[in-house]
Amino acid sequence: MNIGIIKEKYKGENRVALVPAEVKRLVKKGFKVLVEKGCGMGSYFYDDDYKSAGAEVREYNEVIQSADILIKIHPLEKDEIRHLKEEAVVISFTRYWEKMDELKELADKKATVFALERIPRTTKAQFVDVLSSQATIAGYKATLLAAELSPRMFPMLTTAAGTLKPARVLVIGVGVAGLQALATAKRLGAQIFAYDIRPAAKEDAKSVGARFLESPVWAEGKGGYARELTEEEKKIQHEFLAKHIGNSDVVITTAQVPGKRAPLIITKDMVDRMKAGSVIIDLAADNGGNCELTKPGERIIHNGVIIYGPLNVPSSVPRPASEMFSKNMANFVDLITRDGQLDIDFSEEIIAASCIIHKGELRMEGNDA
Ligand code: NAD
Repeated sequence: MNIGIIKEKYKGENRVALVPAEVKRLVKKGFKVLVEKGCGMGSYFYDDDYKSAGAEVREYNEVIQSADILIKIHPLEKDEIRHLKEEAVVISFTRYWEKMDELKELADKKATVFALERIPRTTKAQFVDVLSSQATIAGYKATLLAAELSPRMFPMLTTAAGTLKPARVLVIGVGVAGLQALATAKRLGAQIFAYDIRPAAKEDAKSVGARFLESPVWAEGKGGYARELTEEEKKIQHEFLAKHIGNSDVVITTAQVPGKRAPLIITKDMVDRMKAGSVIIDLAADNGGNCELTKPGERIIHNGVIIYGPLNVPSSVPRPASEMFSKNMANFVDLITRDGQLDIDFSEEIIAASCIIHKGELRMEGNDA
């Protein structure tokens, strides 16, 4: 079977879906791996590295038309679907909720499609959970961005020239990215505070040394995710958070609710209460942002408060992001194959949850799409 990797066309994307180390592992298992020329350049993996790992380096057309399994980060574009081999297996993010046309075209090609955003968020699924691996990278980078933009230092320093107070860093949304942001801020010497509406987040935050701001509203939803707050709950949250945000030098927000625009948590009046020189890093900017003033992809200054909503953050740390994505993907190939042949077993919960098209048949429930 041929496994294909093509260049990610998504604007500014530096990651690649399979790095040479994982190519080697798949080649050893008997797969032929075809990679598009230059596909790893953004992550500093060169064609020669792929060749040494046993891959065949080819032009785009040859890769996409020969791949029995195509592994990709971003959803396939229409042009890519047109070139795809009939009955190919595609493993990628799909944004299925807004890409119905593309899914229909994939179905017309009798494709089998695994949507990475539908992998269950369980301990058992961690070996293939790209949402977690990429969020880990994003959380780390968010803190570095904050440290870079902040006009102050993070650690407490006692020197002959005086004592510097540690920066107060508040992380709102203590999922995978939030935890890594907290841990990174702690390593830099900041005082760290955490807020979330899922009860389980409290222990997670404490485990990295954060002080948890006890939420006045708890809102656990399905599958371990948070649910959207009601209007009443939003008001309570607003009252509670305003003072804590005002006391912070840095606020990093990561809050998401599946299938919805990211929740608006930091309103303009809250930003107005922050000190000049404070920083907000809005990691939810890809999905609309958690701060009312966030302009996705831009850095703005509002009354002396620096607000930055970076986009596609894992791509800005492309090397480990690609390595982790690849490891997850090589594990995914293991999951859906046996002895080098496809073996898609729907009694396996990760397969059942993530396979949204099987041999051209849509497998999503109506309102899932
Ligand atoms: P996510 O990206 O969906 O959201 C980030 C965080 O924002 C979450 O902690 C969420 O509770 C929080 N949030 C949402 N609305 C909020 C609001 N209004 N105010 C404050 N916080 C808000 O989260 P994620 O990192 O993708 O994790 C999703 C779930 O998957 C979590 O329950 C996590 O523990 C779980 N998970 C489990 C494992 C495992 O090994 N068992 C691994 C990864 C993730």
